[in-house]
Amino acid sequence: MSSAAVLAVVEHRRGELRDISQELLTVGRELADAIEGDLHVAVISGDVETFAERLNRNGVDAIHAVESGEEFDHGIYTRAVEALHAELEPTALLMPNSVNGLDYAPAVAERLDLPLVTDATDLAYDEGITVTREMYGSKVETTVEVDDDRFAVTVRGGEWPAAEGSGDASIETIDLDVEEGDFGVRVQGYEEVAGGDVDITDADVLVSVGRGIGEEENLELIWELADALDATVSASRPIVDSGWLPKNRQVGQSGAVVTPDVYIAIGISGAVQHVAGMKGAETIVAVNVDPNAPIFDLADYGVVGDLFEVIPALIEEFK
Ligand code: FAD
Repeated sequence: MSSAAVLAVVEHRRGELRDISQELLTVGRELADAIEGDLHVAVISGDVETFAERLNRNGVDAIHAVESGEEFDHGIYTRAVEALHAELEPTALLMPNSVNGLDYAPAVAERLDLPLVTDATDLAYDEGITVTREMYGSKVETTVEVDDDRFAVTVRGGEWPAAEGSGDASIETIDLDVEEGDFGVRVQGYEEVAGGDVDITDADVLVSVGRGIGEEENLELIWELADALDATVSASRPIVDSGWLPKNRQVGQSGAVVTPDVYIAIGISGAVQHVAGMKGAETIVAVNVDPNAPIFDLADYGVVGDLFEVIPALIEEFK
């Protein structure tokens, strides 16, 4: 097999492809073009045929479906990626910088003796890979150059657009001689965390509330707006730290990375740690009394005003 190739490993959870999967196809294609190689995609465990069909395969050269296990399993992923890497000998191995990706990526890198750079927010290839990543709570951007012929990178969600368009990439099904639990680690089941009623990473429209709301009882206003817009409520960290909303609704560096169509930031200043979680939103709307609030630097639409006047007017309008 030619070594001018990129291998991207997509991700699914509980029967659904995760957004990072289509994003990996975009970054994978860009990289494959840069190295003048093919883009191979690995779909591992679960209903692989359906997942493979659901991928926007425009620009994908081949899909390798590994039929073993149902949900994520450390051993199966590690062994499957290792086997595919041995067969394809790709220049670049791309994996999601997700909880699962960060579980198996280091193991794969160690077994294959590959340099691994995690949490890429940008990639450039010129006879070697240069990976951009953020440090110190997104205050500093660094670039890491890897000179090795082959390398592995985990890619941050929300940094690349989702791949679009169908393609006719062939799907090759692979049987793997490994079972769930073979590596001594086994997923026993899934438990929703307290308040885990929603997954804000799946929402199309997010109404996000920050410290500007002042008091817990004022959150009623935010729920009302979310209702009127059929949106999901999320928050900045101080709201979660105060115990006013559960952790699964927190957006940001230590919360979730979200990429909704519309993100409405209400009484949120736009600290770097918050922005790290929402800058990939397609349209950003900000409501803030302070015209110099950093959130306005990235907002597509901004309302400088008191949220206690602006939000009731918006609710009235949307109702
Ligand atoms: P503030 O910065 O206090 O902003 C409140 C805003 O409300 C102000 O801009 C103000 O002008 C406006 N306002 C006040 N009254 C009104 C009104 N009546 N109408 C309209 N606007 C009004 N933060 C996160 O959000 N997510 C994270 O994941 C996260 N992770 C972190 C990790 C680390 C390691 C660290 C150090 C920090 C982290 N933070 C995170 C915290 C972050 O630095 C900020 O402190 C936080 O984002 C600020 O939240 P805020 O914008 O709601 O509050």
